[in-house]
Amino acid sequence: MLSYPIHIGADGREKLGEFLRNSDYSQILVLADENTYELCYPKLRDYLPVHEAIHIPAGEKFKTLETCVGVWSKMTQMAMDRKAIMVNLGGGVIGDMGGMIASLYKRGIDFVQVPTTLLSQVDASVGSKLGVDFMQFKNHIGLFNDPQGVYIWPGFLNTLSDRELASGFAEVIKHHLIADQAGWEELKHIRDLRKLDYTQIIEHSIAIKQRIVEEDPFEKGARKSLNFGHTIGHAIESMRLETEAPLLHGEAISIGMICEAFLSREAGLIDTKALVSIIELISNHYPSTNFSAAEFDDIIARALNDKKNEGKKIMCTFIDGIGQFKINQEISDGDIEESLEFYNDMAKGY
Ligand code: NAD
Repeated sequence: MLSYPIHIGADGREKLGEFLRNSDYSQILVLADENTYELCYPKLRDYLPVHEAIHIPAGEKFKTLETCVGVWSKMTQMAMDRKAIMVNLGGGVIGDMGGMIASLYKRGIDFVQVPTTLLSQVDASVGSKLGVDFMQFKNHIGLFNDPQGVYIWPGFLNTLSDRELASGFAEVIKHHLIADQAGWEELKHIRDLRKLDYTQIIEHSIAIKQRIVEEDPFEKGARKSLNFGHTIGHAIESMRLETEAPLLHGEAISIGMICEAFLSREAGLIDTKALVSIIELISNHYPSTNFSAAEFDDIIARALNDKKNEGKKIMCTFIDGIGQFKINQEISDGDIEESLEFYNDMAKGY
């Protein structure tokens, strides 16, 4: 069992207020980014007891140690003690980084996650992985640590852009591909992401993630299933982060899922029909991208440095039929190249 509660639904904000009022924290600090400070904090603040709120610039490129140092400085100036708590109000960047900031401040203070993007509501806020990017590597510095609770109010999604909503939906797709074949048959037909019952979608995704994380909290086995699409996807995300045309996390992961589904088919684990259904769903929700030969090399170099690797071996998770997975699949740089070529040529046929 996870040691912390996860509340999902219309009363997510009330539940957070209740928890804070019934606890004995010396100070409450809300950490937001500039967008969630403007759009989400006004919808939350009246539910909270006396607190302070600070904000940092928004976006993955600020998920850095430098940003942490800025927040630690403010916390120190505010004389926050070890009985204080941090409320991380934002997407996966605020959750991952705010959790790490809290976990290291004075050797660790409590924190709660209040995710405001679909991606963080269905995935990032649960599972206790915290961290920041370092040099060119995603989540390179970080730790595992549990929050005191996760409070999910789907109403925050109303102000999210269509692009960010689709980005979060990539993790919903992933959860179906690794764990829910029957659900996949329904998911395939979804067209309009604005017309969904998000409480139900979040509950479904969180239930899958929670079950997997409980089985394997430190990613020795089954938790690696959640990395489907992420070996190649993370390499693409970090490569594009340094360009004028960055991809959102879920956009990169959707490409990674096509590449890794292609490799799953090459390994004989799924048939072409399943691969086509994955490509069709992803193509309905994400614009396609084209990678140059130089980008191929860059993506391969980054995949070689993925923290999921063992020694010099690039390790990947495949799907083994829709709804099942196979972890610890070694792939070569040639495999990655072939999958990217397949992705580039996709429009021409499968
Ligand atoms: P994000 O936190 O950068 O949020 C995306 C954008 O949406 C930001 O500009 C943010 O300001 C804005 N925003 C947030 N909530 C909003 C709202 N309600 N209305 C309007 N705008 C809003 O990114 P993300 O997509 O939420 O998360 C991506 C991050 O999550 C990546 O760093 C990734 O590594 C991490 N992640 C972590 C885990 C994990 O297990 N810890 C899992 C998946 C992803």
